[in-house]
Amino acid sequence: MQAPAIGGVQVRRGNGETVRLPQGASLFDFAEKIGANPASLVQIMLHLGEMVTATQSVNVETLQLLGAELDYNVQVVSPEDEDRELLESFDIEYGEDEGDEADLVSRPPVVTVMGHVDHGKTKLLDAIRNSNVASGEAGGITQHIGAYQVSTVVDSEDRKITFIDTPGHEAFTAMRARGADTTDLVVLVVAADDGVKPQTTEAIDHATAAGVPIVVAVNKIDKEGADPQKVRAQLTEYGLIAEEYGGTTQFVDVSAKQNIGLDTLLEAIVLTADAQLDLRANAAMDAQGVAIEAHLDRGRGSVATVLVQRGTLRVGDSIVCGQAYGRVRAMLDDNGESVPEAGPSRPVQVLGLTAVPSAGDNFLVVEDDRVARQIADRRQARIRNAEQLKKRVRRTLEDLIKDMEKGTVEDLVLIIKGDVSGSVEALEDALVKIDVGDEVGLRVIRRGVGAITQDDVNLAIASDAVILGFNVRPELKTAQMAEREGVDIRYYSIIYQAIEEIEAALKGMLKPEFEEVQLGTAEVREVFKVPRIGNIAGALVRSGTITRNSKARLIRDGVVISDNLSVSSLRRFKDDATEVREGFECGIGVGYNDIKLNDVIETFEMREKPRD
Ligand code: GDP
Repeated sequence: MQAPAIGGVQVRRGNGETVRLPQGASLFDFAEKIGANPASLVQIMLHLGEMVTATQSVNVETLQLLGAELDYNVQVVSPEDEDRELLESFDIEYGEDEGDEADLVSRPPVVTVMGHVDHGKTKLLDAIRNSNVASGEAGGITQHIGAYQVSTVVDSEDRKITFIDTPGHEAFTAMRARGADTTDLVVLVVAADDGVKPQTTEAIDHATAAGVPIVVAVNKIDKEGADPQKVRAQLTEYGLIAEEYGGTTQFVDVSAKQNIGLDTLLEAIVLTADAQLDLRANAAMDAQGVAIEAHLDRGRGSVATVLVQRGTLRVGDSIVCGQAYGRVRAMLDDNGESVPEAGPSRPVQVLGLTAVPSAGDNFLVVEDDRVARQIADRRQARIRNAEQLKKRVRRTLEDLIKDMEKGTVEDLVLIIKGDVSGSVEALEDALVKIDVGDEVGLRVIRRGVGAITQDDVNLAIASDAVILGFNVRPELKTAQMAEREGVDIRYYSIIYQAIEEIEAALKGMLKPEFEEVQLGTAEVREVFKVPRIGNIAGALVRSGTITRNSKARLIRDGVVISDNLSVSSLRRFKDDATEVREGFECGIGVGYNDIKLNDVIETFEMREKPRD
């Protein structure tokens, strides 16, 4: 195939060939797929009027623009699509009920409770559950497993309802963000003495966005100053019009504290589900569903609560759940009772998985353990790749160790968070005992029990620390913040794995050592403004050679103004040049706008130097 030059850059054209890239891919990934030099793609983007670096993740439009320019058909695949394709390669369809209408049976609604803080979500979930524990049942020992099921009688029929008992919006949106729409119906709790508040409307937005009907529980009617009618009036503004006012939304006055109105609320849920939803599933197929909570138990290993969405899950089934797999060794319900099988909408704790899945991971029963392991392995590999991709732009453990090599960082600084204080202490003890010689140090600046918080991430940003999470995870917002700020959070569930990894990283750093080699310097004689590209330096090469794509820094009056630059464009008169030697004039672009007369552009490269 002809390779026409685009702005002086030679790249093989695609001739309509399809290139599949994951969401958030960089030019580097694109280049890898088509066997091109990433720097060439950076230049082509420059000619197209967009300044992007090779490793920065770019949006879909940019990838497609570049694809069109090079005659490639770019397809951006979401993680969900990738997973669907993975399962299809095993002849598995996830998310569909097998068979036709005749195979579907009705299933209970799955309910999430949302509303403003302190309006009584937790209290209501507890009250509903406690009032529903049949006397004598399992000695009344209820367990918090992330969801529970209750029964109620409507029109003399026994009906069940499943409640997800992690109230709040984060769990709901986190699941949805991962493509797991578990909730059929939202109970919106509004305190009658407080009325509509910011999180009330936020909850309405979430439910509306998910297309999920709302039943309003007007709570705390026992309190002085409670005004349930005012809540109804306020909510009409948000499109929730009570039935008694001619609307379709059920409002139920309750008191979670005094157990008032709970049965009416359950009835309203069932009636709303019947009127607005067609909740049916095939109960006869291999089970599929979603993990809603999971943790590592000392005695029992991985314990995961899954919500069966279709099919029936049985003890002995081979399942895969996110990156975990295994055979269902035992199943427990929310009373801690062992159950042999679980049908649609039933939440159960599953024992027997090899690892701890994350909330929102899908689970499915497969033919045998071998298939389960293969799927889990492939998912692990994919997630590793995705992480690798991110690592190029993040301050990872590896980056920090590289900086230690260069001498710009002296210690490896860690923040350790864990589920119990024993494991945090054990981990810290073992880590500080790692013997890596005098050259490097390891410092733990915070240790604690509980989830990784925004404050931990802030501390990590401020002190260039890596966060180790032992059986703990950050909240979605915290994870997003860490992602944005380039903070490396590493998760472990086995102590020796954490130790091994840190030790290997630290020891690894003792191998290669890099030294900087100066390539050339150029003095800025003029500054040109180039539309859409930015400032270009008209410069005279003072020493060595200036080479395109080499690393560069900008120096003003002996002070480094910017260090992390590269020569992104280099021109002699009107032509692109790959290098310009001492004594010649040229135009240099370093992707940095603050260039001034008499600044010096210095180019250099890092060379590995053998250890002695
Ligand atoms: P959440 O933040 O929405 O989960 O709210 P909580 O369930 O933690 O309840 C917040 C506070 O309101 C607690 O002190 C509860 O005891 C109290 N509360 C909840 N429901 C009622 C109720 O029906 N009546 C009264 N008087 N207090 C309630």
